[in-house]
Amino acid sequence: MTREPAEPLRLDYLIRAGTIHSMTGKTYRSVGLRGAEIAAASAEPDGLDDLTGHSTAVVDASDLTLLPAFADSHEHLIEASRNTLLVPVDTARSVAEFTGLVADAARDATPGKWILTSIAWHESNLAENRVPTLAELDAAAPDHPVLARRGGHFAVVNSAALRAAGVSADTPDPPGGKIGRLADGSRDGTLEGGAVYQVAAFAPGPSRAELAAALGTTSAAYGALGVGTIREAMTTLDDLAAYTDAWEQGLLQVRVRLMMRVPSEPELSTDQALALIRGLGARSGFGDDWLRIWGLKLVMDGGVEGAALKDPYANDPGNSGHLNWEPAAMTQVCAEAVRRGWRIGTHAVGDRALRTLLDVYEAVVEQTGPVPPWTLVIEHGMVSDAAQRDRAVRDGFGVTVQYPVLWNMGSEMLRTWGPERTRRVTPLDQWLAAGADLAAGTDIVQPFNPMTNVWGMVTRGTKSAGIQGPGHAISIGTALELYTMGTAALNHEQDRLGSITPGNLADLVAYPLDPLTAAPDGLAELTPAFTIVGGRATHDPDKRLAR
Ligand SMILES: [Zn+2]
Repeated sequence: MTREPAEPLRLDYLIRAGTIHSMTGKTYRSVGLRGAEIAAASAEPDGLDDLTGHSTAVVDASDLTLLPAFADSHEHLIEASRNTLLVPVDTARSVAEFTGLVADAARDATPGKWILTSIAWHESNLAENRVPTLAELDAAAPDHPVLARRGGHFAVVNSAALRAAGVSADTPDPPGGKIGRLADGSRDGTLEGGAVYQVAAFAPGPSRAELAAALGTTSAAYGALGVGTIREAMTTLDDLAAYTDAWEQGLLQVRVRLMMRVPSEPELSTDQALALIRGLGARSGFGDDWLRIWGLKLVMDGGVEGAALKDPYANDPGNSGHLNWEPAAMTQVCAEAVRRGWRIGTHAVGDRALRTLLDVYEAVVEQTGPVPPWTLVIEHGMVSDAAQRDRAVRDGFGVTVQYPVLWNMGSEMLRTWGPERTRRVTPLDQWLAAGADLAAGTDIVQPFNPMTNVWGMVTRGTKSAGIQGPGHAISIGTALELYTMGTAALNHEQDRLGSITPGNLADLVAYPLDPLTAAPDGLAELTPAFTIVGGRATHDPDKRLAR
């Protein structure tokens, strides 16, 4: 903090609270904000009174507990924003409702126009607990290509979409992907991994202006849940343009740290991937406090359906998932990126993917020499063994962890991975015991209450699969730390964000109870009284911060 000694500091806000957890071990009773920063903090409610002036708003929040705003280490804000512009099949509770929404959209669209759905749906929310069939989608929209992506690695489509993408009955599976087929060999409308991208390449998305506006409204919904920063886990060059528009127009209500997508074969050859990185020009760290480039994003395997596992799938003994990258090619791409000042986060869900990723990252460091912490990052590492965890720690590769994926897809994991592997998904206790650098996030592709995530990390409770692996639970304090300080370290911003410390950016969230002393079940649906990002209220329904 720098200021002219001659000019006394006058706070914009003085907030007196019941408790202020700094997350550095210190507890305060009052905090002063000036401009975008925290100017001062005191253990006494009246300890900052000398810093007030006629323009200071004094906020009595003695009934509230303040924490640093949450920083989500891995979320897809751009997809969540895009979803608001798409057919909202995530609201359907039956296959008939799902196909009804598709039929409505098709009726309103010019013939031949693609019907694109939200990717936030899941069949476990449908009464039939299955995905819509090709025939059902054909009946709903005979004249429009329909692409219903679910998450990042799976989709269902109709016949018109397959036709539009040139996928015929005898089109082979693309590398790293699968075109679903019925017993008689005809296509069933499901696409996995590379097959999703093969078809999606033909489907035009929303315009850049629509997307920028949606980033504004959707980021506000995250802010209303206490989120101050999102690390955006997959950005294309088009997405970057929309983000830049939203930033320039002041629409973003959360800070965003971008990961630029580097596709693998067959989408990009190794030479093309290298050319993409060389052509990006910027590098990790470029940007300002609101919008900054974190690094690159690579994807090693699939999600719950396509994760590369050491042992076969519980429901498919012939399948153990797929790897998208050939290790030597990936090593070459990553080493070039590190030399150019890039950080890299790689999606690796299964234990076979994680082992291969560790091989690649170790080979990269052998070429480039040692790298700072949080340069080569493991995204997810959901299924791991002790040897892999020890390797990641020894090599200094941090891990972003997303408990809400187990919360959301627990029943899917039980079916595909089996109960033993599901119980040990994302074992935060074991990662921490091994000494790992962890940063908590969601990967849920819609505004998700961070306190529900905290509740999950401390109880191992899920949406519809009961409690999974309760021994892997961690304490509330640790969960909050991974979700604030942990992500700040991941973003190389621990001197600016992640704690309530004078000189840091003023990103705060207030709750009507103290989460650190609350019973865990009181957290599951706890929502904030207000959220402040950069000294500005992004959520203040009761006008507690009104000036
Ligand atoms: Zn993700």
